[in-house]
Parts: sequence; structure tokens; C-alpha cells
Amino acid sequence: MTDVIQLGNVINGKTEQGSSEQINKVLNPSTGEVVAQAKLSTVEDADRAVRAARDAFPGWAATTPGERSQILHDMATLLAENLDEIAHLETIDAGKPTAAARGEEVPGIVGALRHFAGAGRVLTAQAAGEFVAGNTSYVRREPLGVVLGITPWNFPLWQAVWKLGPALAAGNTVVIKDAELTPLATTRFVELVQQLLPAGVLNLVHGKGSEIGDAMVRHPEVDLVSFTGSTQAGRTIAAAAGNAPKRLVLELGGNAPVVIYDDIDLEAALPILTNGVLFNAGQECMSATRMLVSEAIHDKFVDALAASLSSTVVGDAEDANTVLGPLISEGQRARVEKLVADRPAHAKLVTGGKKVEGDGFFFEPTLITGLRQDDALVQEEIFGPVATVQTFTDEAEALRLANDVEQGLAASVWTRDIGRALRNVNAIESGVVWVNNHMAVGPEGPLGGFKSSGYGKEGGTLGLEEYTRVKQVIVSLA
Ligand code: NAD
Repeated sequence: MTDVIQLGNVINGKTEQGSSEQINKVLNPSTGEVVAQAKLSTVEDADRAVRAARDAFPGWAATTPGERSQILHDMATLLAENLDEIAHLETIDAGKPTAAARGEEVPGIVGALRHFAGAGRVLTAQAAGEFVAGNTSYVRREPLGVVLGITPWNFPLWQAVWKLGPALAAGNTVVIKDAELTPLATTRFVELVQQLLPAGVLNLVHGKGSEIGDAMVRHPEVDLVSFTGSTQAGRTIAAAAGNAPKRLVLELGGNAPVVIYDDIDLEAALPILTNGVLFNAGQECMSATRMLVSEAIHDKFVDALAASLSSTVVGDAEDANTVLGPLISEGQRARVEKLVADRPAHAKLVTGGKKVEGDGFFFEPTLITGLRQDDALVQEEIFGPVATVQTFTDEAEALRLANDVEQGLAASVWTRDIGRALRNVNAIESGVVWVNNHMAVGPEGPLGGFKSSGYGKEGGTLGLEEYTRVKQVIVSLA
């Protein structure tokens, strides 16, 4: 058992304890042991963080894109130098299998910082022109002011960086409110990079979403809220921000359809789909959960996927061989277990379906077939290592099933027929669609949902523009 890490807020360049008497105990989901604790913040703490960001804004906004870019590159370098430590924190805090945390997730965060560092130097807008005779109009792209980033527990530091990276690159100052369950890596990162930033440019407060999160969403000095989390909390935040009204980026839940035609290259697809179901224990808003399979290959596909899922190595996230780690909490596991246990009589459990007995919050890789479109397992985001299977007879039915859910974040289409692939891409209502792939993304491309999955983009150049406002200037030539 390691020592319990004491966490603090980072406000105006200094680490300090939250002022609430309530203590947040953070568990290692592989063992259930307490690994860290933090005193929660009060609304007054949050207010100080927002005011520190406001005070720092004019100075930060006055730096050149090149200066901000260099600092973001330096942040990336610092993160890369501390990769082992940060990856370990994600492993013991969020249950990330160590191979994935070290090999993919944290290197991906370094890459994202470098993307935002570059993209912030080349913001674009409409060309200047004489739209009114005798006047030249041009467009300025300006930072907004104070950005509040509210992050979920499934990709703690990744999500924080996809918010603070573009916000800082565009000249805003930032307050991050991290998820109560997973503060470790974000806290360490924010503390580390203070040496690179003027005080107050990047602040962090721990606390309850419904208390300090809500208070900061309503705070008059917050100009934009970038939120990733559940659709339910997204609705509450949109309503609270609507009063101002205040700019929002909402990245909410997904429920990805995976449309599998009978000409799929099954051998090539299987490892990608297995990863699509089990990556981050299925607690990934773009998870490949909802398999829609051509009737012609249903049995062959189900046998192959079941064999692949059930042979996955499940274990402590710190074990180098682990592929499927724990779910984030007992509560999350109980939610998934109940959804699976309450499956309708027409469904068939092919593999898995139970929690793994013993310490930690593990759940078996699970495959359920025979589902119908209005079943809860199809309509709700499961957020666990569970895939469902439905069948279709033709393309029209496949597309109807793909789109007939409230979410629209991610999807994939599996076929070697290019015309059919592109017809499906055009018809599927979701913010990202893969063809013969699933889950692979880079920071250069924009992510963000349709329908109840939210609005606004993260990543790419569009994701940077979210953190700017456009001003038209009209100058008389007289
Ligand atoms: P959550 O919505 O409960 O919490 C997310 C964050 O919001 C936490 O920091 C929480 O404290 C805060 N929060 C909650 N209520 C708030 C309020 N009223 N005001 C201000 N802040 C509030 O979500 P979660 O359970 O931590 O995360 C899992 C969810 O996130 C899943 O539904 C998943 O699909 C979604 N998600 C979406 C994306 C995406 O890009 N679309 C990415 C990752 C996760």
C-alpha cells in the first residue's frame, strides 16, 4: 500500500487546500484502496480561481501567438519528461491499463499539446474586402476571456488538455474543474506547468459539480464553458449558462452504431472491434458498443467476437499484460451490471455478464445478442465492456437502426464496397464516422457530437475557433 497523496487546488500559481471541511477520498479502482484525498472547495474558492484567471487575462491575451505556442510546446516537453509518473497516476486513479496509459494515452496528450501549439499560430477568418463602397472590412479573431473546463473521469488529463490547450493557445485564461473521482494526473500536470505560465493563467479547483461547478458556470466572469460528461449534466449546464447567455462547448454521451455488412474483412476487423468494445473498459463515449450485423454473417461474426472478447486478459491496471482494467467505481459497475441483468427475455447472453469477484471494480467482457431497437441496452449508453448485437436484412434497415437513438457522436461502417460505405457515411447522423476502423483519432481532426451528444467541436482548427470570438472592423477609406 502506497502513501495517500494529498491534493490541493491550484489558484493564482499556488497550490492550496480547499476550504470545505468535506474530504474527497480517491480510490484505486483496481484494488478499492484509497490512493489520494483532497479537501473539497467552497464556492468562495471557486470564485477566487475565476477572479485569478480574469486578472491574468489581459497580460496573457497580449502575448503573441508565437510566445503562447512556445509555452505549449514547453508544456508538452515537460509532460513527456514526466510521462511515467503521469501515466502511473492515471493507472492508479482511473484504472487505465499501464500499457495503454504509457504507450498511447499520455503520448497522445503530448501530441495534442503540440497540435494546439501549432494551430494557435495560424487562426483563419474571412478575407478583408470593400463590402460597403469606400470602406474596408476585416475580421479579428479574439480570445474570449476566462474559459471554464469541466472534465469527466474517463479520460481525466486527456480531456483537461483538449480544453486548456486550445483555450490557452487562443489567448484565454483557464479554470479547470476536474471530476471528483479522478483528480490525480490533472493536478500533477497543472502543478508542473505553473513554472511555465504567469500566475493565474491556468487554475484548478476540485469539488462537486452540482456546487462549485454550477457556481462557476453561472459566474459572470466566466465567458465560455467547455464541458465533457453526461448528457444529463450537459442539459443542466446548458440551462444554467442560458441565463447569461454564455458560450458553450458540450461533449456529451455517445452510443456508437457499428454497421457490419457481409463483405467485412473479419480477420482484420476483429482486433479493432475488440479494442473498440474494451478500450478504457468501455467507458469511452465513442465505444463500439452497438453492433448492427448483416443477417448473412450474424452467426459467424458473433462466434468470432465472443471468442475474441472472452480471451482478453482482465486484471489489475498496473499489470503490464492487462488489456481490460476495472470500471471506475462500484457505482458504475453496479449500473452496468443492472443494465445487463435486466436484459429482456428475447436477448441472449453469449459471454460474460457478471462482475469479477474479489477486490476492485472489474466486469467481464460481455456480448449480448438478439436485442431490439427499443431495449434499454440499445437506447442507453452502457459505458462498460459490453457489446450488443442486432441484425439487419438490407442497407435501409441498417441505417434506420443506426440513427434511431437520441445520441449522435460516433459510428463505424464495415464493408469493402466503397459506394455503400460512402452512402452510409452520408446518411449516418453522427459527428465522426469511420470506414473499416473505429476509435482511431488524432488531435488534428475535429470531434464533437450531433443530436443529444452535444454541440461544438474539440480538436482540429474548428476546436480552436470555439475559443475565439469574431469581430468585424469597418474602416472608412475617406
Ligand atoms: P458527469 O456529467 O457526471 O460529470 C462530468 C463533470 O461534470 C464532473 O467534473 C462533474 O463534477 C461535473 N458536473 C456534474 N454536474 C454538474 C453541474 N450541474 N454543473 C457543473 N458541473 C457539473 O459525467 P461523468 O460520469 O464524469 O462522465 C461520463 C460521461 O461523460 C459519459 O456519459 C460519457 O459519454 C461522457 N463523455 C463524453 C465525451 C464526449 O466527447 N462526448 C467524452 C468523454 C465522456
